[in-house]
Amino acid sequence: SLPLKINFLHRAGVVVGAGGSRSRTPLELKDIFIAVKTTRKYHKSRLDLLFQTWVSKAKEQTFIFTDGEDQELRRRAGANVVNTNCSAAHTRQALCCKMSVEYDKFIESQRKWFCHMDDDNYVIVPSLLKLLSSFQHTQDVYLGRPSLDHPIEAAERVKSDGSVSVKFWFATGGAGFCISRGLALKMSPWASLGNFISTAEKIRLPDDCTIGYIIEALLEVPLTHTHLFHSHLENLQRLPTDTVLEQVTLSYGGFENRRNVVSIGGAFSLVEDPSRFKTVHCLLYPETDWCPSEGHH
Ligand code: UDP
Ligand code: MN
Repeated sequence: SLPLKINFLHRAGVVVGAGGSRSRTPLELKDIFIAVKTTRKYHKSRLDLLFQTWVSKAKEQTFIFTDGEDQELRRRAGANVVNTNCSAAHTRQALCCKMSVEYDKFIESQRKWFCHMDDDNYVIVPSLLKLLSSFQHTQDVYLGRPSLDHPIEAAERVKSDGSVSVKFWFATGGAGFCISRGLALKMSPWASLGNFISTAEKIRLPDDCTIGYIIEALLEVPLTHTHLFHSHLENLQRLPTDTVLEQVTLSYGGFENRRNVVSIGGAFSLVEDPSRFKTVHCLLYPETDWCPSEGHH
């Protein structure tokens, strides 16, 4: 009978949920490729904080994509530092150049998930693992947070010299986004090797928009909108304190005048920890040697 069959499926380790049926083979940290985009001038001011905090929990899967050789960074992260040889300018071309190297390295890595982060993101590693576990890497999955409340409209340059308008959603790069290997492989004609840069030139939009264009407009795979990813384009204070540790990514913006950080108290004051990343880290991993230990005062 049918109930028996369902019972059997459960015992066989198949869970039927929102994403369809899937096997219970747990997703492991080593299945994820986390790319962090940075630039030479932020190695000290931004990357150090990441190495001190969340990167220490995902050392093997985090790859730093930068634009200048740095002995100290090399000593710290070895082969996980990728010098892209892209220009250090904050131009569309330079940023797309880095994204294209991230994509190629991910494909080469054979891992199941590609996640892009900026160097002002905190990744709550257990939350990321939990979120990705609810999808299948063999299916087409594009996960992230839109920065607009409507799809972007772009003029797509076509042969001859005309252009047509295209509308699509994209996940804002500043909040981080993830792509399954299944989908990433389909992106190859527009994303691999030099193709990403030509694709970006066709719509003259930044790297994260170009990703959205390839996935939503060209491959017709919809963005899965998630509220668990955060950039400093949103008001981070508004995130309820009791939900901060359940998010997947956090960010920070404008320390001095227009401070935009998550509202969370704990180990460090705003002066000691202006980004709140150390405070978040000590709440997640209180046993960390530089976190204040409760039993010692
Ligand atoms: N970035 C870069 N090259 C630059 C400037 C910035 O690769 O010349 C990177 C930076 O390291 C970060 C991302 O681009 O990962 C976004 O930069 P930022 O946070 O300064 O700007 P915003 O978030 O305001 O776009
Ligand atoms: Mn930023």
